[in-house]
Amino acid sequence: MKLSKLKTYTKICIALCLVLFILPNDMNAQNRKKKKKDETSETLLNKRPKLKEKTIKSLTKSCKKIEGLFTIYQDTITGSLQMIITDNQINKDFIYFSQVADGVMDSRINRGIYRGSKVFKIEKYFNKIEFVTQNTSFYFDPESPLSKSKSANVSNGNMASIKIKAHDKKNGHYLIDANSLFLSEILSQIKSPRTPGQPPTAFKLGSLSKTKTKINAIKNYTKNTNLTIEYVYSSPSVLNAGSNAVSDARNVSIKIHHSLIAMPDNDYEIRYDDPRVGYFTTQVNDQTSTSSTPFRDLVHRWNLKKKNPDLAISEPVKPITWWIENSTPIEWRETIKNGVLQWNKAFEKAGFKNAMEVKIQPDDATWDAGDIRYNVLRWTSSPKPPFGGYGPSFVNPKTGEILGADIMLEYAHFTNRVFYDKVYELAKLNETKDYSAFNKNDGLFCSLGHQMHEDIMFANTVASATGASDLEMERIKKESMLALIMHEVGHTLGLNHNMKASQLFSPEQLANPEFIKGKCLTASVMDYATLNITRDRSKQGQYDDVTVGPYDIWAIQFGYTPFKTGKDKSDLLNLSTRPELIFGNDADDMRTPGKAIDPRVMIDDQSNDAIKYSVDRIKLVNDLMKTAKSRFIKNGKSYQELRRVYYLLSGQKAGAADIISRYIGGVYVDRAMAGQEGETQPYTPVSLKDQKRAMNALKTYVFAPNSFDAPNDLYNYLAMQRRGFNFKTTEDPKIHSQVLGYQKNVLRHLLHFNTLQRITDSELYGNKYTLSLFMTDLNNAIFKSDIYSSVNSFRQNLQLEYTNMLINMLIGKQNNRYTHNSKSMALYNLKSIRNMISATGNLSSRAHKQHLRTLIDNAIKEVK
Ligand SMILES: [Zn+2]
Repeated sequence: MKLSKLKTYTKICIALCLVLFILPNDMNAQNRKKKKKDETSETLLNKRPKLKEKTIKSLTKSCKKIEGLFTIYQDTITGSLQMIITDNQINKDFIYFSQVADGVMDSRINRGIYRGSKVFKIEKYFNKIEFVTQNTSFYFDPESPLSKSKSANVSNGNMASIKIKAHDKKNGHYLIDANSLFLSEILSQIKSPRTPGQPPTAFKLGSLSKTKTKINAIKNYTKNTNLTIEYVYSSPSVLNAGSNAVSDARNVSIKIHHSLIAMPDNDYEIRYDDPRVGYFTTQVNDQTSTSSTPFRDLVHRWNLKKKNPDLAISEPVKPITWWIENSTPIEWRETIKNGVLQWNKAFEKAGFKNAMEVKIQPDDATWDAGDIRYNVLRWTSSPKPPFGGYGPSFVNPKTGEILGADIMLEYAHFTNRVFYDKVYELAKLNETKDYSAFNKNDGLFCSLGHQMHEDIMFANTVASATGASDLEMERIKKESMLALIMHEVGHTLGLNHNMKASQLFSPEQLANPEFIKGKCLTASVMDYATLNITRDRSKQGQYDDVTVGPYDIWAIQFGYTPFKTGKDKSDLLNLSTRPELIFGNDADDMRTPGKAIDPRVMIDDQSNDAIKYSVDRIKLVNDLMKTAKSRFIKNGKSYQELRRVYYLLSGQKAGAADIISRYIGGVYVDRAMAGQEGETQPYTPVSLKDQKRAMNALKTYVFAPNSFDAPNDLYNYLAMQRRGFNFKTTEDPKIHSQVLGYQKNVLRHLLHFNTLQRITDSELYGNKYTLSLFMTDLNNAIFKSDIYSSVNSFRQNLQLEYTNMLINMLIGKQNNRYTHNSKSMALYNLKSIRNMISATGNLSSRAHKQHLRTLIDNAIKEVK
């Protein structure tokens, strides 16, 4: 046979074989079918459902039923979860909110952190239930045809698509497996991603362990379903074992409360933001508006309604109730209660009586702060306390209505426990302060507790050095705690910071005990003003705010008054130009070198003459430094206390120097609306007189050869108490590097490209302290007094650092960020330093000058 024929023959054979093979089977099947048809239809009905359809009842047979907004079934043997979605929940919006029940600071996840809220919709797609995050950032006027394209280029997020296990048609119930929803990071990402620049040795969580992650608690109510999940992150081996708070870095538990909340259906009235008052907001853009400010930003506020709307002042239908957690030290409870209730003074002006009420959580309470129905003032004494206390709240993203709040407070803030490993390097601390959490949370981050802690320690030091009574010491603690509580409660009412408020009183008024008695020492408790501590101890009055300030009252009026007309509201807002209603928040504050422009918006400052007040603080520190050794060495004790005091005093001085430096190149900002009574102009440069005053203060107290003088024999005693093998670096005090750190912080602002650029720009609109004048003054402040003689070791450090900064302006990595004008002045200054240098002074000074000369000569060669 030819090959082609053979192929055809083989094909036919295979086909025949297949037919023979299939036929008997097919015939058998037909026989079976016939047999089945012979069975009665009744038998068929009995058999089929048993094989195919499972009912909710059968699937939840071994489960505990936990009824609430979403009914949960938990298997009593395995603990696994199933959940019911009802017909009327489909295509409805819900709110998802989560908070940290417990974590470890090493992972930057710590108890009480609110993790934000979002809206999600439940959708049904064939045999699946989907959980889809909704976008709430945009508004479309429904009247505008553009609203038809409102979904264009906006992404919703499908978080989960879960198969329906059973359907009860009669009741409209769908049963789904809920394990994947809660025992994973589907609802929100918990473990932070690695951030660029993070060293590979940084502490990190391992991978989420599916076997170890479990449900700790389920609490179900008609309007919210809540689950606490313990996430376990495992890693076979770790590089960084973390702090003592971590028992085993290979297995770290993070506990999260998840809440699924019914969308509130009430008569809450949305209030839109105004730039003259500081509320937390949810930003919404009107996509159908042609305005240059198409903002519909939702103010965060409680749904406070008058019980009797006809009364000028009425009790609310439902007050804002605060619970003092049963973990609160008993002796502090009265002060805390008082702090909350102070806000009632503000609410009365907004038309409400007893808007706030305080209760104490019973020791045998069956609920805890994780229960979103309770607003709780909480205390912790963490191994590594978070950066500050904080008062978070969570809102309905669609309206801005605050649905719940807690306040976390750290016991450490009221102790002498130093909670930074490197507190003795405060200058470095300032450089590395991490504000990323603040930025991420849209300003919901508060570090007042930390700021205040240093101030309280300082006040204690001043008081005890000047022989204050126990009563006086108690007063410091009480007043600062009251101020902290009022501040944190303010956050939970929707208020953000007002870092400008400390401009209210003059230094003289603050040093008048009678005048300030019973007052808020600034316009607002929402500032981070420094404690009021007078150098002349006979003039010491109140240390801190004992009630809310005029700005606070006004802000609450704006947020909570049930305005009858729009005019009533705008009349109130038009009062913003009054000095006691001054406002500027973190976005404008100048704590970071070069960041902002108005020196009045600063933290840790005080009074309407912050230069004078800061100089006074420096003088006070200098006084104390002289006697520190004799006052803070106690027989039978180690020298740890003296060491702490030394660094504390130095830190206060450094802080005061930063405050003074902000006036140079500063521009005052007025956010009044055009034509508003009392309006000045949006930008007014700081007067020549004040800028010069600031420069002179820096020259005398920061840059002068004797600026950081301390008695030399003090240094011999700055010893740490030994504890085990705990010295991480060499233990001797790093005095020069510490002082240079303070000076560098000031120079970093003065020579920041933003500051220098603004000095030149503002010469066009009123600044008389010109760039050339300022840079000449600075050069003289750093060189003039000792260039022709011996230069001490502090000054050598400063002069070299400053010279390097000038060189960097010209040829450093960031040189292209500097304006031509400032580069020209940098070069001019380098050349004038070069001209001043002569081989004078002792050997060390001559070596220093030679170093400077070489640096400048080499740098100038590189300037193009
Ligand atoms: Zn705060």
